[in-house]
Amino acid sequence: MLNLSKYTALLPLILLFSCTMSTPKLSDKIVIAHRGASGYLPEHTLESKAMAHAMNADYIEQDIVLSKDDVPIVIHDIYLEEVTDVALMYPERSRADGRFYVIDFSLDELRRLSVNERIELSTKKAVFPNRFPLKKSNFKLHTLQDEIELIQGMNKSTGKNIGIYPEIKNPGFHHQHGKDISKIVLQILKKYGYSKKSDACILQCFDAKELQRIRQELNSDLFLTQLLDFPESLDDLEKYASYADAIGPSIEQLWITSFGKSLEEKKDLIQRAHKLNLKIHAYTFRQDEHPNFENFEALLNFGFYELELDGVFTDFPDKVIRFLEN
Ligand code: CA
Repeated sequence: MLNLSKYTALLPLILLFSCTMSTPKLSDKIVIAHRGASGYLPEHTLESKAMAHAMNADYIEQDIVLSKDDVPIVIHDIYLEEVTDVALMYPERSRADGRFYVIDFSLDELRRLSVNERIELSTKKAVFPNRFPLKKSNFKLHTLQDEIELIQGMNKSTGKNIGIYPEIKNPGFHHQHGKDISKIVLQILKKYGYSKKSDACILQCFDAKELQRIRQELNSDLFLTQLLDFPESLDDLEKYASYADAIGPSIEQLWITSFGKSLEEKKDLIQRAHKLNLKIHAYTFRQDEHPNFENFEALLNFGFYELELDGVFTDFPDKVIRFLEN
């Protein structure tokens, strides 16, 4: 006879295990909050990350640039003036090219800046005029540690397990300034419990040499995404599969057929990538920018069901989640 008591004794353990398992949702389609819920609040602010968390994105993205004192700052560019009031606060601190570099400022100085919706430098107007208004409220820059603590803290208080999706920005530029950004970021990730593929963290980079270095020289066992910005780079799938777990092409690379490949050829490429065990996480899905598609839903239909993408980076995580639920 089956000894039931043996199994019931194990039940709490099994339940505990299934609740605390932090395996990323890699079998299903994932929604990555691109710079947070950046369709609604200024990109890469803690507020936009909290909103993305409340919306139940699977992962929340962090772009990372180092400060002068080697602190990883969550910001999209190596420059400051498109998303902060740096030109007003430190008018003398631009370089000869007229630009203000994150790497020239200490964390203390960066913390004094106010963050705004992204502007077009030439016109000083908002890039997305229908989003959060310019120069309203009070937003600040923050560190990678600040953001991990926010997400892990909200995971604890809500019982969710939302992942992080950090990107190493411009490693070559950092190396030129004597800074090993990857090493610094990996150390912080490890400190916060992210070191294996099964942890809720995906590390991404456009620089193929650097991502290879992260896997082979820095011996990272994290889930790695090779970002791609040229359509021809889609051909090197075997190379990416040798060190990465996913590729991240732009949606334009996938739908613009004038790059010498037909839609059928691109679908073949995606199938080949899947056969090589590469996931495909494409960027960037925006409700207020979907050229060549009638509406956002048509773009999502194309991405998820024509191309069979495994995940998308989106400024509007709530809209994509609702689309997938339906
Ligand atoms: Ca990014």
